[in-house]
Amino acid sequence: MSFELSGRLQALPPYLFVEIDKAKRKARQEGRDIIDLGIGDPDQPTPRFIIDSLYQAAQNPSNHRYALDQGMPALRTAIAGWYDRRFAVKLDPDTEVLPLIGSKEGIAHFPLAYINPGDYSLVPDPCYPPYKGGTIFAGGKPYLMPLLAENQFLPDLKKIPATVLKKARLLYVNYPNNPTGAVCDGKFYRQILAFARKHKLIVISDLAYSEMSYDGYQPMSMLEVDGARDCVIEFHSHSKTYNMTGWRVGWACGNKALVAALGKVKSNIDSGIFSAIQVAAVSALESDQEHVRSMSRLYQERRDALVDGLNGLGWKVQKPRATFYIWAGIPGGRKSIDFAADVLARADIVITPGVGFGAAGEGYVRFALTVDKARMKEAVTRLRAIL
Ligand SMILES: *Cc1c(COP(=O)(O)O)cnc(C)c1O
Repeated sequence: MSFELSGRLQALPPYLFVEIDKAKRKARQEGRDIIDLGIGDPDQPTPRFIIDSLYQAAQNPSNHRYALDQGMPALRTAIAGWYDRRFAVKLDPDTEVLPLIGSKEGIAHFPLAYINPGDYSLVPDPCYPPYKGGTIFAGGKPYLMPLLAENQFLPDLKKIPATVLKKARLLYVNYPNNPTGAVCDGKFYRQILAFARKHKLIVISDLAYSEMSYDGYQPMSMLEVDGARDCVIEFHSHSKTYNMTGWRVGWACGNKALVAALGKVKSNIDSGIFSAIQVAAVSALESDQEHVRSMSRLYQERRDALVDGLNGLGWKVQKPRATFYIWAGIPGGRKSIDFAADVLARADIVITPGVGFGAAGEGYVRFALTVDKARMKEAVTRLRAIL
């Protein structure tokens, strides 16, 4: 028998990495020495103290049962404490914080709370794919806002048609940005907030990369802006900050009603985060954050090795001030899928074609800083041979 897929599944954007994934698997099977700069997943292990905390908490039978939907009070309090220390933003742990099974699920589920069929979400292009997927699953339509180099990869709000704005409910912002590595300042957040007020929009701020920054730069939270709590929900995660992508723990915070609505969606779908993971997540947030600083030093070295190397080849790319991504315009204007396939075939290096993040990503490739400095230099040497 064969069954027709639902309209919502069919409406998802096509998966553009099929060919590259195939080529990557084949190269591995052939035993080629692949340098993988494709996936945004930290290569370093989770810090020992966090693993120890999980190990201890896992021995306690009271942690083996269904967790509370809204997360342990200790985790919500630890998240609020971390926000206060890091951003001087005071959150009520009972009403303004919601732990998530990784922030991706929260980001993908949130539109179910506010999107009706035919409504729009204003989504950056290129972007992290769940912004589009979550909107489509809820019956909505993503309206894509191109992020262009000439605008420092910030959306141009003036270009959004009035007809779209009338039916728009959600606006996504993600700075520091995946995949462009761009950052924003308080002025940009204040503009976004004024725009959201004017058009009655909910702002979804994805802050996954706030702790990966360089050259002394410290990203801010949108919740630092006066009045942001009127319409902003911010998503954050242990994944990138503490090398915990596989653990699945993150959170949403900000406007009470928005947080409660997401909680209501989730209580109908999941049954919370394994309690031992929540205990370990508390230990990460309450630690001295030395791990975070040392990871940023490590990524900064790799960034410099790669960007200085590429610039030395005459391939002009910018050093990002945050994230572990290098967003590089492709020399000679080649298509990103062809270029990435060529780099894999001839240099055994995996990079991500920009078009996979949206049409406005065409003409770019993304390098992730997920191998050590010596391998980065090796990657540059291999690229010199083929460029
Ligand atoms: C990695 C990433 C996340 C975090 O995802 P988790 O589900 O928390 O692991 C969120 N947003 C962006 C843009 C990311 O790149």
